[in-house]
Amino acid sequence: MIRIPLAQPDLTGKEREYVNAAIDSTWIASTGAFLDSFETQFAERCGTRHAVAVANGTVALHLALLALGIGPGDEVIVPSLTYIASVNAITYVRATPVFVDVDPVSWCVDVDAVQRAVTHRTRAILAVHLYGQPAEMSDLRALSQRRGIRLLEDAAEAPLATYRGRPTGSLGDIATFSFYGNKILTCGEGGAVTLDDDDLAARVRLLRGQGMDLSRRYFFPIIGYNYRLTNIAGAFLCAQLERADEIVARRRAIYARYDARFTHVPGLTLQPRLPDRELAPWLYSILVEPRFGRTRNEVMQGLADSGVETRPFFIPVHTLPPYAHPENTDSLPHTNRLAASGINLPTFTQMTDRDVDDVCDALLGLRLE
Ligand SMILES: *Cc1c(COP(=O)(O)O)cnc(C)c1O
Repeated sequence: MIRIPLAQPDLTGKEREYVNAAIDSTWIASTGAFLDSFETQFAERCGTRHAVAVANGTVALHLALLALGIGPGDEVIVPSLTYIASVNAITYVRATPVFVDVDPVSWCVDVDAVQRAVTHRTRAILAVHLYGQPAEMSDLRALSQRRGIRLLEDAAEAPLATYRGRPTGSLGDIATFSFYGNKILTCGEGGAVTLDDDDLAARVRLLRGQGMDLSRRYFFPIIGYNYRLTNIAGAFLCAQLERADEIVARRRAIYARYDARFTHVPGLTLQPRLPDRELAPWLYSILVEPRFGRTRNEVMQGLADSGVETRPFFIPVHTLPPYAHPENTDSLPHTNRLAASGINLPTFTQMTDRDVDDVCDALLGLRLE
């Protein structure tokens, strides 16, 4: 029987060599040449003046919101169809998440829904580049400027994607990334904040490092956090970044191979491919709809029986116990439809063409005419 996991990190570059170099240098904590180099290179790839490496993608979001001064009484508009970390970070600063639907055109946050959700308390929009797809950033940017509110990108799933020729990470006021083990670039656990504004970047660095003054050691003007990343993880990320284009290219080829088999199959709906953006190939995403003849869960079970690991789309966050309050019961029809029918399929660089074909055969074999 075949056995194909959903995800697997690509560790075939200089990860081991650079980690050993970090150990040999004795710079194993949260300063060192690898971290500096990673921050410089990652900012360059994102087209921003600054990248700040942090412990994971969740604290990246927390720091971004803190640096913008978002706190109790403030509202942050967020799509319900996302990983729960996007919303939890809003709760960490004791602001209120305001859930909105996604747009069937992109599967990302619906701009009209955002517009309707803005109140006098709204301080920010947290756009999520869902499953690698950049959200509608120019309309969101125009709206945020018109209303005097901030625009954040949760780009955890979309490093090196582009929107109208510009890279994710540079499309709002501040952006966050994750380098968790199943993400496109990884160091096991890690994250980054990218931005242009010098003062805001200094604020992110201050908050990341326990609130210690950046030019006066052991003087703490504010209460900060220990959200630093280690130089060992920085070494790992330098190795990943060297091969980022290669990693993305192989993942794109896997996407193209899946596309070729699934396009025009009744009941299968591909993730939208939009002319003005290039999505980051994270986890291949597809909808299984009634015309396929099998439910989404039957397809997942059938694939599991064939040795193929899959994942259902995110459960809408506004329906999860911590957030299912009476004020969050608005129906979000597109969110519900995607969440009920979406599947992520195996995507990792070491997957062979044969593996992709095996997944396609297993999935298409389940179809009932
Ligand atoms: C992975 C992910 C995060 C959180 O990243 P961690 O590094 O696991 O903390 C945040 N938002 C989205 C959309 C993600 O997919």
